[in-house]
Amino acid sequence: MSNAMLEWTCVYRTDNPLEAHIVLGLLAQARLKTHVEGEALAAALGEMPFSHNTIKIFVCAIKVPEAEEILVNYQQTNLSEDWQCHSCAEHNGSGFQYCWHCGKSYDKGQ
Ligand SMILES: [Zn+2]
Repeated sequence: MSNAMLEWTCVYRTDNPLEAHIVLGLLAQARLKTHVEGEALAAALGEMPFSHNTIKIFVCAIKVPEAEEILVNYQQTNLSEDWQCHSCAEHNGSGFQYCWHCGKSYDKGQ
């Protein structure tokens, strides 16, 4: 295995901290090790509006195909309407397949 396969590779970027959180949760569920850039920077800058800060999510280069499969599924299953979580009753926006509060998926929540 070459060293290139062990380098961090950016697989997702977003300005939405909640979305970053969900994507990290999905990758963690698949036991993918992640590295994040952006969140710490925003905290350090303090007065800088959070919305101007892009969060980047990295995985090990060798894990990119696995991560991309998860992310494609995530992006294709965006819902058309807002929904309420079956598990914790949290209100979720249409862009979220998973409850941002407890992590249950829209269709499997019980
Ligand atoms: Zn929930």
